Amino acid sequence: MTTSRRLCLLIPALLACGSPPLCDSGTLVLASSEVQISCEEFSNHVGIARVLMLAGHSDGEEFNAVFGGMSVHVLAADAWAVNGGPAYGQFVWPHGIYLNPSGRALLHEMFHVLDVSRLRLGTASHDGWTELGYHAAQAQFERSVIGRPLALGPR
Ligand SMILES: [Zn+2]
Repeated sequence: MTTSRRLCLLIPALLACGSPPLCDSGTLVLASSEVQISCEEFSNHVGIARVLMLAGHSDGEEFNAVFGGMSVHVLAADAWAVNGGPAYGQFVWPHGIYLNPSGRALLHEMFHVLDVSRLRLGTASHDGWTELGYHAAQAQFERSVIGRPLALGPR
């Protein structure tokens, strides 16, 4: 047993060890899923999100630094309650991004991650997101992934 493996067994929550990712897009990784996933669509979704984010919101160096190795988790539920309203995705530090089976909230949650990485206040209430163009980019992302869910079916 290697030293790193032994450390994983001792402190799995800190080292994020255990099973390898289900899908690796090259930056974000699909770490867990409650439904069967198309890894091809996962990579497509990440690629579309990357193009939209690099169109004036970030650059490749920052994108790779912020999102490289970041975990994505897909839940079976279409929506769940967050702060009294329905959520289709959620960023939970340090675990990563949670998505419903459509994956349509990916870019929205990535903007939260970007805001947090820049120590930008007001991200929880989406302050300034219209002016920054985040909402417009998210709308474009959703149009791009309509009919192309991450989920192939139940697990
Ligand atoms: Zn949000």
